Amino acid sequence: MGRQRLPPAVPQGPLDSSTRRDVAVLGGGPAGAAAALALARGGFSVAMLERSSYEGARVGETLPGSIVGPLARLGVWDQFVAAEHQPAPGVVAIWGRDEPFENDFVFSPYGSGWHLDRTRFDRMLAETAAAAGVAVHRGARLEGCECDSRGRWHLRARVEGETLGITAGWILDATGQAAWLGRRLGVPRRVTDRLVALVAFATHAAPAEQFTALEAVPDGWWYAAPLPAGKWVAGYFTDSDLFPHGSAELRRFWCERWRRTRLISGLFPDVDACGPIRIVSAASRRLDRVAGRGWLAIGDAAQSYDPLSGQGITKALESGMAAAAAIGATRGGDPTALDRFAAGAERESRLYQAQHAKHYAREGRWPDAMFWRRRRAARGDPRA
Ligand SMILES: Cc1cc2nc3c(=O)[nH]c(=O)nc-3n(C[C@H](O)[C@H](O)[C@H](O)COP(=O)(O)OP(=O)(O)OC[C@H]3O[C@@H](n4cnc5c(N)ncnc54)[C@H](O)[C@@H]3O)c2cc1C
Repeated sequence: MGRQRLPPAVPQGPLDSSTRRDVAVLGGGPAGAAAALALARGGFSVAMLERSSYEGARVGETLPGSIVGPLARLGVWDQFVAAEHQPAPGVVAIWGRDEPFENDFVFSPYGSGWHLDRTRFDRMLAETAAAAGVAVHRGARLEGCECDSRGRWHLRARVEGETLGITAGWILDATGQAAWLGRRLGVPRRVTDRLVALVAFATHAAPAEQFTALEAVPDGWWYAAPLPAGKWVAGYFTDSDLFPHGSAELRRFWCERWRRTRLISGLFPDVDACGPIRIVSAASRRLDRVAGRGWLAIGDAAQSYDPLSGQGITKALESGMAAAAAIGATRGGDPTALDRFAAGAERESRLYQAQHAKHYAREGRWPDAMFWRRRRAARGDPRA
């Protein structure tokens, strides 16, 4: 399990100074790569511009067994299985009561879930898109984007020290929480909380326990999960004003909170094996509008979920494929396709909010603690 491999290079797209494409996809995470792949297979010419080179560690690593659905529809299930991500039997949690309980994936019709090497997963999707004909530009710095009076987009980026100009009929914002295009277009964003994740990876051998561990604590919650190649990851989720800033204080705080946990510190005892602590936004945000003339926002750029839901990557893949279908239907003459895409995102958002409120309502052990009071207030609980 978890054989180490050298990162294969995602082929770099051609760097001629001005290129015409049907679609430009901004961001090459799961949402962008899924959309680019589906569009290329649907006969569109596509460029995907990704800021990174798919080398650094990425967060977001647990997938439910139901991921087989979107991955099979994308035609990448075999590559996924061959990549030797690690099966995840389920979740063990302390949440809402003092005793741990298990939510075993064995009882899911899809069987076990997965712990990902996330960088390898994202790179695999980008490589598959490139093999399907997408011009993938890694290390891209977006500089500007304008729409002309005929509805054509003109995009400028720096790639490998050169200026790249792309003219496209459609543009997809798949830049994750950055929502680069949505913000540039001035679309308002609703932010419903200030959740952040204080995340560290450990390269020390992971424990034999393969469950994802979840534990609610007075000022937030923890998770820890084993990863392929003997690594593991742990994250403390709290509000952005409830932890100290400054790296030494933060590490002291994080280790001290870790030692107070019952489940996490029992399953993953070696806190000193953890590398540097990264502060990552995990806020629930949503663009007021996810589609307009010639553009769509997908994945976290459209709406980002609380990682407690474990649905972020699934939603990113689904929304990428839905955007590709909407563009295909519009090309086929369906004037309602964009509205239906937006209505689907709206439905999904309402469902997410209801589930989110339900999950947090299960925890009531610290009624006076700020973190939990804020969640009660957000769902309109009169006791907040
Ligand atoms: C701490 C944490 C833990 C999580 N755990 C899970 C989990 O266990 N399971 C799960 O399903 N989800 C999890 N999530 C959520 C999940 O990671 C996201 O929902 C998912 O990554 C969204 O995919 P995306 O493609 O929309 O965005 P991203 O994965 O963020 O991809 C966006 C891409 O755009 C690129 N980009 C950004 N800005 C630019 C720019 N200006 N120009 C070009 N490229 C740009 C980025 O480099 C990146 O490759 C977690 C999230 C957090 C914060």
